[in-house]
Parts: sequence; structure tokens; C-alpha cells
Amino acid sequence: MNFPVIALRGLTILPGMVVHFDASRKKSIDAAQKAMMSDQKVFVTMQKDSEIEDPYAKDLCIYGTLVRVKQLIKMQGNIIRIMVEGLERCRLNGIIERDPYLVGDIEFLPRKSVSEEIEYCRQEAMVRILKEDLDKYSAEVSNNKQAIAHMMTMKKLDELLNQIGIIIPFDPESKQRMLDAPNYEDLYLIAEELLRREAAINEIKKEFQKKVKERIDKSQKEYVLREQMKVIREELGEDSSNTQDADEYEKQANALNAPDSVKEVLLKEIKRFKAIPNGSQEGTVSRNYIETLLELPWNNCTQDNNDTIHAMNVLNEDHYGLEKVKERVVEYLAVRTLVHKGDTPIICLAGPPGTGKTSIAKSVARALGKKYHRISLGGVRDEAEIRGHRRTYLGAMPGCFAKALKEVGTSNPLILLDEIDKTSSDYKGDVASALLEVLDSEQNNQFKDHYIEVPLDLSKVLFIATANDKSMIPRPLLDRMEVIDVTSYTENEKFHIAKDHLIPKQLERNGLTADQLSFTTKGLQKIIHNYTREAGVRTLERQIAKICRKVVREILEQGRGKVKITETSVEKYLGMEKITYNKANTEDQVGIVRGLAWTSVGGDTLEIEVNVMPGSGNLQLTGQMGDVMKESAQLALTYVRSVASEYGIDKKFFEENDIHLHIPEGAVPKDGPSAGITMTTAILSAVTKQKVYADLAMTGEVTLRGRVLPIGGLKEKLLAAKMADIHRVLVPDENRSDVSEISTEITKGLDIVYVKNMSEVLGQALL
Ligand code: ADP
Repeated sequence: MNFPVIALRGLTILPGMVVHFDASRKKSIDAAQKAMMSDQKVFVTMQKDSEIEDPYAKDLCIYGTLVRVKQLIKMQGNIIRIMVEGLERCRLNGIIERDPYLVGDIEFLPRKSVSEEIEYCRQEAMVRILKEDLDKYSAEVSNNKQAIAHMMTMKKLDELLNQIGIIIPFDPESKQRMLDAPNYEDLYLIAEELLRREAAINEIKKEFQKKVKERIDKSQKEYVLREQMKVIREELGEDSSNTQDADEYEKQANALNAPDSVKEVLLKEIKRFKAIPNGSQEGTVSRNYIETLLELPWNNCTQDNNDTIHAMNVLNEDHYGLEKVKERVVEYLAVRTLVHKGDTPIICLAGPPGTGKTSIAKSVARALGKKYHRISLGGVRDEAEIRGHRRTYLGAMPGCFAKALKEVGTSNPLILLDEIDKTSSDYKGDVASALLEVLDSEQNNQFKDHYIEVPLDLSKVLFIATANDKSMIPRPLLDRMEVIDVTSYTENEKFHIAKDHLIPKQLERNGLTADQLSFTTKGLQKIIHNYTREAGVRTLERQIAKICRKVVREILEQGRGKVKITETSVEKYLGMEKITYNKANTEDQVGIVRGLAWTSVGGDTLEIEVNVMPGSGNLQLTGQMGDVMKESAQLALTYVRSVASEYGIDKKFFEENDIHLHIPEGAVPKDGPSAGITMTTAILSAVTKQKVYADLAMTGEVTLRGRVLPIGGLKEKLLAAKMADIHRVLVPDENRSDVSEISTEITKGLDIVYVKNMSEVLGQALL
């Protein structure tokens, strides 16, 4: 049959497709218009070479499609948009006419029906394979999903193949191959190959896109960051090149007053730094290291003032009392000057808080003309805080000693190791052993800080340590130190410290003059006695500061000229009295004995109570006692049992009765052996029902056979006894020498009785 022919460029239309294409060639437009006027049918086929303007039969693909022209739309510039619907696969047997448009001899060539051509199972297999391929394809491609989902529901092979040709955007040549396929088997093979190829291409495409995107993202991010850094540097007025900085460092390194070995390391690092690209992480690490080394004092020292008389004057100027401590410190300094080396052991000032330990160390620094730096060791657990981190760690820092030297800028400062008893060890290493290296004069001229790497010389540093409780200092450290005890202050000492030091200091701090605010003796004594209860003078200083602040406000708000703090006006500034003291009992009682205790914050009295009740010989202990104290209680009971017969107690007594021993203020933990004689006396009194003197207190360790052993912290204990209005105190005989060292201010009014054994104790205590 003859039909008008339109030659398509770069387009294959398959049966079933509804597409539009634009025609500009006159012959194509005429053919379409002719068809529109008759039965609307046109044969379309692809040109083999789309460059050819006026194709002949040989230039056209033989297989094409008979289409129905559905619409012609006139576009701009002689172009017609033709909308067609593919009808049937046909073959072009030849061109019959060429003018005014092509007319071809067209033969209908439908394929054999699929059921005739391929048996059912094979068909089914092909459908399944095609669907699998489609599935893979749709995973790689994001468009056409709906159409593909629809295809997945098709059951017939021919339908599926036709749809694949229509929906999947194969290139025109591929579609032409599908059109050329003489039967469904061939069509299937082509379709499958095309599908797979398409899926593979899309996969590769995606991979490429991803790689390219990553690359772009990374380089873009770096670019943006670098640009930002540049702007920041410009804002800060910094040069962005390492070379210039490196040159500057090099100059500084050459001028540095340091051992050659240090300079060598430094110059090497600077050279490395020069080569590192600007702005990199490594550059920052290197820069920090160089700057740290440059800032360390190395050979820079200050001149010491070795005049011990001057030192004593300074200490006296800054501190009231503390004669023994000052003397020991000055002796220590004298020896140190004579020996010329830090071979003398390190001083450790041990005593309760607020007794002036830190402030003595500061005075020593002032006396010697040394720079002062305080390192707080309380709670330090990580060895790295002492020795620093290796530079490979992110955010690595030097240890506290290197930092201290850097800060003071001289290599012979006074470094205060505050609270050396509060360090602890954990899995991160041993703080004490690192400190040991610092304090050991044999090793500390080569102290290794992990960050600094070059050995640091700490031998010129004067170390002074402080501790609240010397028994908590790790043994090896304690061995290297000379402990000087700083003890509690008496009320009289506190009075003088306040008058001579604390009040002037606080007046100055608050911008007051001695004229504006003054304290009467009674007023100050009341503050000390009724508003503070402490070994040192910290709370006292705080209370004085509080009064100063209130007075400053009064002066400003009410225009007051002069304020005097008297016994009566104290309450106005500090509120109601805060402190009540454990006073001696007024009545002599059975089973209650007063002991004396020492704690790291001062002394106190504690009452021990014992009750006896019918039972089966158990000993019950309450009041948060530590292990040592519990053992002491056992010991006391054993002793009492061993002497029971002397006091006329029946042998069976201890089998038929329970004994309960309690120490009040049950929430406060207590420990130590020094309540031994007190517990023994209390048990014996309870058992024999003999009364104990109410105005008596005692302290001493007891042995199994009743010997009384010496105890520590006597000054604090006697002070506490005095505060509690106790008149008679039993003290171990071996503590005689300690008592002689205690000022008469404390011992005055106290009847101190020395005891050697329990029978002496009981003789004194029981009525
Ligand atoms: P510590 O280090 O023993 O805990 P501080 O040295 O911090 O105590 O002392 C607390 C305050 O008490 C400081 O202001 C200090 O000057 C002052 N102080 C302590 N003892 C005396 C003293 N004997 N003479 C003068 N001031 C003292």
C-alpha cells in the first residue's frame, strides 16, 4: 500500500507510542498535511544519517511505523509540531514519489503472535527475567518509577516488551534495533541486553557523580575554611605565612638564654615548622611547642636575698606568733644558703586550715626576693597534670611545673605545693611518684615533662609544701620532707592576729581607715569566741570582712562618720551568736566520761557513754567509729574483764549482760586510738556503777595490760578542754615534754595530771 512518508532525524517511533516531533522540512510538513486531509495515516522511519536534507530510499531505515497524525500545531518560523500515535510495524519496500512529498510502498509486517512463537514456560521465564532487570534498573534510576511499577504488573510478554520500548528512554538506534527485530524472541534478547546495559550505565554514572561530588565538597570546604582563616588572620593583624613567623622565632631562639642542647632542639623544630603548610593542625601544634620553649626561663634567675635577719624581719612583719615555725624556716634558709644547693630536704608545713601556712610561704618568697607560684595539688589524680601530655595528644599541654616556670619567668622561684596530702593515685598513673622525681634533688635537675621533652632543671626552685594531715602524705614523699607542725591558735593569739593583721588588711581592702571603723577589745573577743570556732583564722577573717562591708554601706547610705564594734554592737552586724561549746557536765555521772579528740581542723571534746543491760555478753558500738577505734573498744572491755575481780564484780556478770558504748554526734566519723583510756574508764564506771568526775577529761592510748601510751595533737586537745571549762586533764606520762612546749596561756588554769597506767587513770577518775 502507498502512504506518505516522513523521514525522522534522531527519533524512532514504535507502535503504541504517542509522541510529538517538530518538522521543518517542507516535504515532511506536506506529507503530514496530506495525511490529515485523508485517512491521517503516515509512515515514519528514521534516517540513517540525520545530516541528509533530502533523503532517498537508501538513506532510510527499512523498518518503520505506520502512525496516525493526531494534531498539527503551527509553531514559530515555519515549524509544525506533529503529534502522532504509533499504529503498526511496517516495512518500506521503496519510494514511489519524491515530490511534493515522499510516498512509499509500505508493507504491513506484524510479528507472529507471541503464543504461537514461544511456548508458555519460556515466555514466563522471559517475563520474569525482564521484571528482575526492570527492578534493578528502577533502583538505579529515580524517574519513571510509576510506569515501571505498572509494567511489573503485566503478565504478557508482548505487552511487556512493547511497553519497555515505549517507556525506557533508550537511544534512537537501540529503539530502531527493537523495531527491526523480526520476532518476539529476538525482541526479547535485544530488550534484555538494552535494559542491563542501561542499568549498568546508570550505576557507573552514579558512582562517578558521587566521587565527583565528594571531591568538590571536600575541596570546597577546605577552600571556604582557608578563606575564612585568612580573613580572621587579617582581622587580627597576623601574617598568614609561616616563614615570617619562623624567622622571628629563629631570632628569638638564637637570643635565648638557654643551654645549647635546648637551642638545638628548638632550632630543629623551627625548621620543621617552616615547612609545614600554613594553617594546618600540625602547624598549630608545632607553633605552640616552639612558643612554650621560648617562654620558659631556662638560665634566667633572680638574685636571692640571703640575709637571714632580713628574712626573720619579714616573717615577723607578716605574722604574729608562730615563733617555732619562723625559727625553723629561717634555720632552713640559712643552711640552704650555706650549702649552696637544693640538697636540703623540702619543708612541709602541716597543720589545720587557716593557720597561715600559705601565707608563711608567701612571706618567705618576699623575704628572699623570689617569685612566688602556688600549685594546688588537692584532688590531682592524673599524672599528666604533673608531667604534661605527649605532644601527639590533641590539646596536649605541659605539666604544672613547666607551666609554673613559664608563668613566673625565672628558674629559681618559690613554688608552693599546696595540700600535698590530698593527691591521689588512679589508673592514669601515680601522682606521688611523679612528685617524688620533682622533690628529689638527685633527679630534679633533669625533670622530664612529656610535652617539653627536653629535660627541665627544677633544682634551683625552692619548694615548700603544705598539708592538713601529715599522716595522709604518701610515705616516700614524707621521707623527703622536713615537716614543721603549725598548730591551732589560742583565742589570745587569734585576738592579736586579728588586731595586728586581719583588721588592717580588711580595712584596706574595703577602702576604710582605722578612724572610720574600730574594734574594742571586748568586741573582738566576742567575735572570736562566739562567732568562730576553728583552729585557724579564716572564719574570723571572713567575719571581719563582713563587718567591714556592712560598715561601708552604712557610711555611704547613712553618712555615719565613725563606727565602733563593741560587745553589744557585734550582734547588729553578725546576727545572733552562732557557736555553742560542749561544756563540762555539771553533775558527776556513771558511765559518762569526757575524752579529747584531734581532727585535721582542730581539737574537740567528746563524751563517751556506756550503758549496761541484761543480755549475753555482747559489746555494741555506735557513733561511726573507725576500725582502730573499734579495736580500742574491744581492748578496753578485755582490760576491764581482766581487772573485774579487783572491783568486786561477779565473774558471771559479763556473760549475763550486754554492754553498749556510744559516742554522740553520731553522724561525724571518728577514729584513732587516743580514746582508749576514756573508753576503759567509761566501761568500768558503768559496770561498777561508780561515778566519774564531771570536770575531768582525758586522752591516751591503752594497751591490753593497761599501760598508757602517748598521743598526738596535745595542744589542740588542751585548747578544746579549756574551752569546755574542764579543770583537770589526764595526759599520758610520755607526753610530758610536749606539754612543756605549750604556752602557759593554754595550760594556765588546767590541772594536768600525768598517768602511766590504767590504775592511775581510774584512781583519778572514779569518785
Ligand atoms: P592555710 O594556708 O594554713 O590554710 P592561710 O595562709 O591561707 O592558711 O591563712 C589564712 C589567713 O589568715 C591569711 O589571710 C593569713 O594571712 C592569715 N593568718 C594566718 N595566720 C596568721 C598569723 N600568724 N599572723 C598573721 N596572719 C595570719
